[in-house]
Amino acid sequence: MKIEEMYKQKRPLISFEIFPPKRAEQLKNIDETLEILCGLKPDYISVTFGAGGSSVNSKTVELAKKIKYDYGIEPVVHLTCLNYSKDEISAILDELKNADIQNVLALRGDYNPDIPRKYDFNYASELAAFIKTQGDFDVAGGCYPEKHLEAPDIVTDIHNLKKKVDAGVGHLISQLFFDNDLYYDFLEKLKIADINVPVSAGIMPVINKAQIERMVSLCGASLPEKFARITHKYENNKEALFDAGMVYAINQVVELLTHDVDGIHLYTMNNPRVAKRLCDGIKNII
Ligand code: FAD
Repeated sequence: MKIEEMYKQKRPLISFEIFPPKRAEQLKNIDETLEILCGLKPDYISVTFGAGGSSVNSKTVELAKKIKYDYGIEPVVHLTCLNYSKDEISAILDELKNADIQNVLALRGDYNPDIPRKYDFNYASELAAFIKTQGDFDVAGGCYPEKHLEAPDIVTDIHNLKKKVDAGVGHLISQLFFDNDLYYDFLEKLKIADINVPVSAGIMPVINKAQIERMVSLCGASLPEKFARITHKYENNKEALFDAGMVYAINQVVELLTHDVDGIHLYTMNNPRVAKRLCDGIKNII
């Protein structure tokens, strides 16, 4: 089922994000992870896509098929476009059509100095428009409550986001954030810009210190004082940091739900314990 149809039937949608394991032996373990994640009955599971290299990205489609056919959960396939030609994207879309997978998250991807870029696409909006010409796909897009790192300011970024929605993106999934007030403020700005599609809130429970540092440098999410105190106090106690990180994320989600958000998108990091703890924490609320 298309995600836009799901949004017509219920809100909030609860979704998980996973990545295809890089090594073959990890692919075997993915069943254990999927068993638990799919058992939690999310509305959909999205599968990330690499910057380049057909072997890694064929695993994205393989994993999406597994989610759909072995576990009966709707998959969303991420596609990035900086390193791909129209013909290559077309071939992937044909594979998705053959597998009856209709949901795609259209992304630009990041510039990677090690992978030569191709010039058929410059922005995710161009990919979204192209996907729409290739079949009956539901196209989602990414958005950034604290602006995309390359954007000069949030107003410019939201103007660009509007182009993406006008190109056919029917709903958005946000970059992770740790401060709900920034998210509510972002939603207000979207309304002013006449962006009225559903937006799912990206939540990543932080359960280890290295992950926090990597995430913040990669996506520019700001860390509220309350959050920094938790990570500082428990950084050397793995289990305590797990508990504290999960409590923080669950509080964030509960507050978002009380604000009637359209969706919660959980970056699971392929860690079923994270998804299980979060779902247990909100099972009587959703
Ligand atoms: P765009 O929407 O194209 O925006 C990129 C930048 O260009 C922004 O600064 C924007 O303001 C600007 N811009 C857009 N349109 C225009 C225009 N017409 N003129 C001028 N400037 C413009 N990366 C992966 O490699 N694989 C994944 O699976 C993946 N999954 C993701 C999932 C989510 C939910 C999110 C939020 C991000 C994900 N990313 C993934 C990261 C993403 O690829 C990067 O953040 C990338 O830098 C931007 O992608 P985008 O689709 O948001 O780009």
